[in-house]
Amino acid sequence: TRAHIAQVEAKRHLNAFITETPERALAEAEASDARRRQGTAGAMEGLPIGIKDLFCTEGVRTTAASKILDGFVPPYESTVSGNLKTAGAISLGKLNLDEFAMGSSNKTSAFGPAINPWTRRSDPAAKLVPGGSSGGSAAAVAARMVLGATGTDTGGSIRQPAAFCGITGIKPTYGRCSRYGIVAFASSLDQAGPMARTVRDCAIMLGAMAGFDPKDSTSVNLKVPDFEAALTGDIRGLKVGIPREYRPDGLSAEISEVWEKGIAWLKEAGAEPVEINLPHTKYALPTYYIVAPAEASSNLARYDGLRFGQRVPGKSLDEMYAKSRAAGFGPEVRRRILIGTYVLSAGYYDAYYAKAQKVRRLIAEDFRKAFETVDVILTPTAPSPAFGLDENTDDPVTMWLNDVFTIPTSLAGLPGLSLPAGLSSDGLPLGLQLIGRPFDEETVFKVAGVME
Ligand code: GLN
Repeated sequence: TRAHIAQVEAKRHLNAFITETPERALAEAEASDARRRQGTAGAMEGLPIGIKDLFCTEGVRTTAASKILDGFVPPYESTVSGNLKTAGAISLGKLNLDEFAMGSSNKTSAFGPAINPWTRRSDPAAKLVPGGSSGGSAAAVAARMVLGATGTDTGGSIRQPAAFCGITGIKPTYGRCSRYGIVAFASSLDQAGPMARTVRDCAIMLGAMAGFDPKDSTSVNLKVPDFEAALTGDIRGLKVGIPREYRPDGLSAEISEVWEKGIAWLKEAGAEPVEINLPHTKYALPTYYIVAPAEASSNLARYDGLRFGQRVPGKSLDEMYAKSRAAGFGPEVRRRILIGTYVLSAGYYDAYYAKAQKVRRLIAEDFRKAFETVDVILTPTAPSPAFGLDENTDDPVTMWLNDVFTIPTSLAGLPGLSLPAGLSSDGLPLGLQLIGRPFDEETVFKVAGVME
């Protein structure tokens, strides 16, 4: 724990942490040593981790990287961070993210962006984004500040930053982990998951995080499998789907190459690649950008200046609401609230929101049919390696395109894992994504374990 705290201090320029809690960590480490002496060590006993600052932590400031939660110290612990504590993990603090997890670069954080520890060979001075929204988590793991970190993923927020920072991360099946105590973005999509250096570390960490929780009605009452035991190394005979729709015309050569390399590895290990179709893929992004903002506008209605954080006084109650929200939310969050409010408004609900829900069903059906013939699906994680801190800023839609490969999985609620699979021509990590059947993270881990 001391060594990792020292590394957190040495790497402060990466801005990966919003709140560091070294004293707490050292006290927890003492207690952890005592448990070890008594022979009651948990599955993650003594391991230093970080918690994305979207998980409520009892007695520790929780910001969601937003000014509107200023001064909020939760009186309760999220189930997932509590589960990790119970397993013996030691939190070094709260990790940076895009404001309310809305973004793909960490640049929407009210605390300034986290920085990717990787740099381009051709221009080592240029700062790169760590991806988002779980950018602080990915940067902290990649820079060896922590052994693992929690992330959340609504449309790619675990997988894309994992790919950008050369680490592994999995968004489990929707319902595998409890959402209790996680600041809500889009409730029908949000899911917690682990980010760590290796597939095995992710398997161990997910085992500690997952499980049924009566406090979250969408958490599923299934026994948590021994994910680590799934890493048998034997994938002979498994069928791996390669979706044609994930090969758009403009796909860059280096992304295609890493994908081809992944397919070749799986073949060598005795698996069988199978071309598949996921015909509604092209509708995933527009569907997500209706569903997610709609749910966000509803979830974020609670930040009214009364119940949480920042309040700006006004002459009337309405004026106080308006001023508090205008001062507290950043531009990306305001954009989502406006879109969400519009698509839910009377007269537009059927045209946008209800329609998007129908298309979402078609996207899920595509996957269901594909999984009748294949066991797992392999795709790139993101269309590019990490980009510069000052790139992709002018047009929000360019930023949204980062999630083309991860969003369909989120809409279908399926598990998706990103693992590092090679370097770009400029020396940056590239990730591949493995998608599994609902609640079949084991096959995903098994295949990923052979590829890493
Ligand atoms: N980048 C996507 C968005 O901005 C996904 C974010 C996430 O998964 N939380 O909505």
